[in-house]
Amino acid sequence: MTAASQIRRELDASGIATLTFDRAGSSANVFDRATLEELDTHLAFLTAASGLKGVVLASAKPAIFIAGADLHAFSPAPAESVLTALVALGQNVFARLAALPVPTVAAIHGACLGGGCELALACDWRVASNAKATRIGLAETQLGILPAWGGCTRLPALIGLPAALKLILGGKPVVGLQALKLGLVDDVAPPEYLLAAARTLLARGRRPAAARRLAHLRPLPALIARKSRTMVLARTRGHYPAPLRAIDVCVQALGRPVETGLALERTALLELSRTPACRNLLGLFMLQERAKKISRPELAGLTSAPVRRVAVIGAGVMGSGIAQWLAARGLSVLLQDIDAKALAGGLHRIETLVRGGARRRLFTPAEAAATLDRVTPILPDAPLTDCDLVIEAAVERLDLKQKIFRDLESRTRPETVLATNTSALSIDALAGELANPERVVGLHFFNPVHRMKLIEVVRGARTSPAALAAALEFAKAIGKLPVIARDQPGFLVNRVLMPAMGEAVRLFNEGHAAETIDRHLLAFGMPMGPLRLADEVGLDVALHVQKDLAARLPNFVQPDGTLEKMTAKGWLGRKSGCGFYLHGPGRRAKTNPAAAEFQSGRASAMDGAAMTDRVILPMINEAARCLDQKVIEAPEDVDFAMVLGTGWAPFRGGPLRHADAVGVPEVVRRLESLARDVAPHFGPCEHLRHMAAQGRTFYPAPP
Ligand code: NAD
Repeated sequence: MTAASQIRRELDASGIATLTFDRAGSSANVFDRATLEELDTHLAFLTAASGLKGVVLASAKPAIFIAGADLHAFSPAPAESVLTALVALGQNVFARLAALPVPTVAAIHGACLGGGCELALACDWRVASNAKATRIGLAETQLGILPAWGGCTRLPALIGLPAALKLILGGKPVVGLQALKLGLVDDVAPPEYLLAAARTLLARGRRPAAARRLAHLRPLPALIARKSRTMVLARTRGHYPAPLRAIDVCVQALGRPVETGLALERTALLELSRTPACRNLLGLFMLQERAKKISRPELAGLTSAPVRRVAVIGAGVMGSGIAQWLAARGLSVLLQDIDAKALAGGLHRIETLVRGGARRRLFTPAEAAATLDRVTPILPDAPLTDCDLVIEAAVERLDLKQKIFRDLESRTRPETVLATNTSALSIDALAGELANPERVVGLHFFNPVHRMKLIEVVRGARTSPAALAAALEFAKAIGKLPVIARDQPGFLVNRVLMPAMGEAVRLFNEGHAAETIDRHLLAFGMPMGPLRLADEVGLDVALHVQKDLAARLPNFVQPDGTLEKMTAKGWLGRKSGCGFYLHGPGRRAKTNPAAAEFQSGRASAMDGAAMTDRVILPMINEAARCLDQKVIEAPEDVDFAMVLGTGWAPFRGGPLRHADAVGVPEVVRRLESLARDVAPHFGPCEHLRHMAAQGRTFYPAPP
């Protein structure tokens, strides 16, 4: 193996060659041009080798077979000729592998995704390890592209069109046993017997041609395609071209020569690579990679000891969610609540989450039991001197949280970082009376904790670089993606989200139906309409946050009274069964007809674009203010946090990418006309006006 080599080749006395992927200086194997070319060289050697009996493809990495194509090659967008050459190279190298005259087998341990999965598909046989790290799948459509190194052609031929479409369109990888059930792999073995199992498969010789499948006989593929399109359109509302194009290619390639399928894949990939959805989705992927490396110059060289033991104060919705997440990642957690019943409730929620994870095979029964064992309920006066970090998640009241922090000061080591999960209270106010206020930092998790990847790491004026570095390190170590926000009301995500919720309530009050407002925002690409979201968050919570922000931020307007009236009636949204919608166990939320009593009139018809502008443009305005006031550092922070924290239309790339796409002067023009025609608070902020006047954009170039 030369210094630059990524693949080790060994040929044993029995004529079996093993190609082991082992990317130098990295814990992952990925396919870039150099690795593909190197693989091609090995395959050329093996094609000419005499006495060759079979080839095993394996990885030397502990948790990755091959993670896929190196996506850095796609960002910034490569010239079309470069992309065309890369796609053709991968297809040709895998075709050479498929054409070897001897049997081939992929011995898969660890993540086998995208191009890694397509490599395995080009082999005669596949064996997967039964380890949790082994996940096999094709996630390309989630990035706005499609599997174009043979995936759309070879997968349906191997496992049948319906199962292949499920994998390609859903983008969710499967574990070894699921892969075996699908026919995606031919055997499953413990990691230590993987290579032996691979050799056993080689003894079967080359894979015989597959029998024709019933599902592939006309007219079934066309029917399957139609059903899949309907399902995709219901989910994506037509905003995501990649899954639709993948359906076309899979169906058209069916029963045709492999070369025909590969040509279809190439054309479709190039087409998709030109779409804004693809550029934005790839851009967001890069922002996630950026978040994993996030730092600040002043944090250089600061390292913190790994966190092993955490105390969580407050066992409500968030405290129990945080405790469960940490325990599932191997940390020991001390859980405290002022109320014994609330503590019992929190423990019960943790158990439900863990058992649910075990049912979905995310944990083995043994791992589930160990996770539960790692959570210990404690009494309010228990010492916390052996804790590396404390996370406060008690009710959102400043006086109460201040008392908790004073108490924590006496129970912890002086250097222990004290974090708060507050949604909006000031970090500085919480730390104010402590002897060591520099150790207080915000760790704002999102609800539900086990689903939401974002954490806002909130830096108070007195938060020390060491505490900030420790919080960032911790967020990354527990598998979350951090964004740094300054201690300003609402931090970033709630501050940008709340104006949208407020405007949606005002539209409702003017007489527009809740489901019409929500439908237009869903059509824009939001995962949930703003009024439905208000019901989910709780109308009391939404009201409290809006009032609080309006009291502290001069440009925020006070809520219009609708939520006050609804909450006074006990309508709190989902938790009370009633809000803008009626909620009940096991049934879909239906419009609440009685809510009409809180509308002040019957609105005249408004088109979808105008309604969307009223909800979306205030978010752009607020995001621009956050940038101007340095709540966050860069436009990338806004877009990344809004997409990960709220599901903000990912194919649009986030509010500021969207502003660039619409054009900043146009955003300003529309805000000005809303300020004139609807209410003055729509007026564009100084930052936006300046940008428009100077012809500036948020990003230097489209993604
Ligand atoms: P919750 O009402 O479900 O839970 C709060 C818990 O704190 C209760 O069990 C209560 O008994 C306990 N508590 C009260 N005083 C205490 C004390 N002195 N010591 C220990 N425990 C005490 O509230 P939640 O929704 O879990 O919110 C907790 C915090 O997380 C709040 O600051 C909230 O703003 C923030 N937050 C909430 C969400 C959300 O969606 N719910 C999201 C992000 C952040």
